[in-house]
Amino acid sequence: APNPAFLSVNNIEVIYNHVILVLKGVSLSVQEGSIVALLGGNGAGKTTTLRAVSSLLKGERGEVTKGSVDYNGERVDALTPADLVKRGVVQVMEGRHCFGHLTIEENLRTGAYTRSDGKAAVEETLEKVYNYFPRLKTRRNSQAAYTSGGEQQMCAIGRALMAKPKLVLLDEPSMGLAPLIVEEVFEIVKDLNTKERVSFLLAEQNTMVALRYADFGYIMENGRIVMEGAAKDLASNEDVKEFYLGLA
Ligand code: ATP
Repeated sequence: APNPAFLSVNNIEVIYNHVILVLKGVSLSVQEGSIVALLGGNGAGKTTTLRAVSSLLKGERGEVTKGSVDYNGERVDALTPADLVKRGVVQVMEGRHCFGHLTIEENLRTGAYTRSDGKAAVEETLEKVYNYFPRLKTRRNSQAAYTSGGEQQMCAIGRALMAKPKLVLLDEPSMGLAPLIVEEVFEIVKDLNTKERVSFLLAEQNTMVALRYADFGYIMENGRIVMEGAAKDLASNEDVKEFYLGLA
């Protein structure tokens, strides 16, 4: 039998406010050490899928009403977000969500709140984050609100890394960023994946960029997965090009 997936989402349904069925049976998996892209337009259900994995639906009055989520050999869909962070599953929300009134470094340190392995270990991780994001080191004492969009996105990812994640759920990392900065962010994601073996499940509307960096992709429409495949196959698929890359 093949190895069980690191993360597997099994036929989940999600309902918001007790009535609105938003995910209509979504299944996907992430192999350990891979980058998986979750693609699709506005409102397709990408964010909801990430929230179902990270247990962040409850705050949004959302609920998994069918199916299950397994991570690292354990069923996790009844755990709290903090329990998931402790197990190495961390979500980076869309829109960056740095604390504007805190400095970059203070923001990064908040990411270590669930750790109990001591101050020295946290300092070591902080230096590691600065190695991956030299821009953050330069801006460490700047108030986050006054840094650029790219720096805030890097800060949000850096903060997730402070929890020593094994799987990062990354929501729309390219949103609102200039093309060169998008590449810079994705290059760092790829680097973290290669060197630290952090796995990524990333939601993106920017299909073209995401498929260049991902190993595998899923395309969502209207609460369902409508296509899946190796990233390079999806990128060369005529339907994908026509509908999602605007290259027809
Ligand atoms: P986007 O890129 O715009 O975030 P998405 O693919 O991530 O799109 P979701 O945010 O998951 O899509 O939204 C899927 C559907 O669920 C949409 O129709 C949206 O209006 C609805 N929805 C999202 N959040 C809530 C909520 N808290 N309450 C009710 N409906 C919601």
